[in-house]
Amino acid sequence: MDYVIIGNSAAGIGAVEGIRQVDQTGSIAIISDEPHHTYSRPLISYYLGGKVEQHNMYFRPKTFYRDYDVEPMLGNPVTVIDAAGHTVTVAGKKIKYGKLLVATGGSPFVPPIENLAGSDVFTFTKWDDAKALAKAAEKAERAVVIGGGLIGLKATEGLLNLGLNVTVVELADRVLSTILDEKASQIFGTHLKSLGVTLITGDTAAAVNRDGEGSVTGVTLKGGNTVEADVVVVAIGVVPNTVLADTAKVKKERGIIVDEHLMTSAKDIYAAGDCVETFDILRHIRRPQPIWPNAYEQGRTAGINMAGQPLAYKGSFGMNSIEVKGLPTITVGMYDAVGPEYEILAKSDAESLTYKKVIIHNDRLVGAVFVNDIDRAGIMTGLIKDQVNVKAFKHDLISDNFGYAVFPEALRKERLSS
Ligand SMILES: Cc1cc2nc3c(=O)[nH]c(=O)nc-3n(C[C@H](O)[C@H](O)[C@H](O)COP(=O)(O)OP(=O)(O)OC[C@H]3O[C@@H](n4cnc5c(N)ncnc54)[C@H](O)[C@@H]3O)c2cc1C
Repeated sequence: MDYVIIGNSAAGIGAVEGIRQVDQTGSIAIISDEPHHTYSRPLISYYLGGKVEQHNMYFRPKTFYRDYDVEPMLGNPVTVIDAAGHTVTVAGKKIKYGKLLVATGGSPFVPPIENLAGSDVFTFTKWDDAKALAKAAEKAERAVVIGGGLIGLKATEGLLNLGLNVTVVELADRVLSTILDEKASQIFGTHLKSLGVTLITGDTAAAVNRDGEGSVTGVTLKGGNTVEADVVVVAIGVVPNTVLADTAKVKKERGIIVDEHLMTSAKDIYAAGDCVETFDILRHIRRPQPIWPNAYEQGRTAGINMAGQPLAYKGSFGMNSIEVKGLPTITVGMYDAVGPEYEILAKSDAESLTYKKVIIHNDRLVGAVFVNDIDRAGIMTGLIKDQVNVKAFKHDLISDNFGYAVFPEALRKERLSS
């Protein structure tokens, strides 16, 4: 094979499309341990809750692999990368590659919890997880979700849609603490409680309790309390999946290290997506930035480079959105920045649960938070991405009539035509 891609998700598909932009004839194989045609991972909670049907889960049409002349090899893991021999091993067979992309994504982090192994306990990162959880939920009434981050709360929404009583247990003192500032977390917590979710903060699971037949009966917390449950979801976090890359001995820290062409420390091996760390253009550090659009763009850039056309990946910044039953929330960039060098403008309304905050540094927007009022988040994200000088209209940024109309004319024309 001229190109072998491991991972059939955002980064892997981006790579196929990047390669074909440059090379229309080279042979490509895409390998995944998941058996499915490429699908949108962010939709699994909607699938769980019955909001999205099977046929709407797919990221690309059924004809994708044929259209792009790609050989899909789905349902088996790659177990070894032999960097010196330029081969990967899948289902006991060695496949030779010219260029290799590792796009193995993230793995759920599961801390040691007594009695965790067994039925009715789920992680929540794959379509099959959502399918299994949906099946278990058919005969369940109560769920405990361990972890009040983005994935835990998405699972919570799905379970609420199925009519379950949900308790969320979060070790931090607030939900979504890694993607929202305190104020936004508070609003989100209030909203969750209004939906009937029991929120326990500052505590975590010590043990899963099971009856004589092994069925889950609840969770005992480190603080000593017990929460009754029929199913448990462990959603503490996701870490870069570097297990396979380790077999090729590529350099890694928190994620696989890549250069600006997305190449690893091993010749002809590239990496992209949730398994890597890349440059955060706002925070000026290298770190994993595990969101779908970043993974796709990294994969596409890696593909173009693999096909021989040099293209630098400049980096990206964090952006997260979550909507749980009517409370849309978006955070962009350095939502949590504090210090004399930052100017913070914010506005909130407790009754309508709305909150808007922007963070400005050197007259440039570096972060924003929107809760329950996200209409102009796209314009704001563009200003952050392009580091536009906002001095002339900064006080309009959080006003209700913020939009292109408040921009100076020249900037308005430039933004509308870009
Ligand atoms: C529940 C949930 C909700 C999310 N919501 C959002 C959202 O709203 N917005 C957003 O931007 N992002 C969201 N994300 C994050 C987003 O899904 C990821 O950033 C994105 O999927 C990363 O793409 P990737 O291609 O790097 O890796 P992944 O999508 O993780 O895919 C990697 C693939 O490689 C496979 N693989 C791993 N090891 C091997 C091996 N050895 N051999 C073969 N195959 C292997 C994996 O099984 C997997 O199929 C969400 C994630 C989850 C779990």
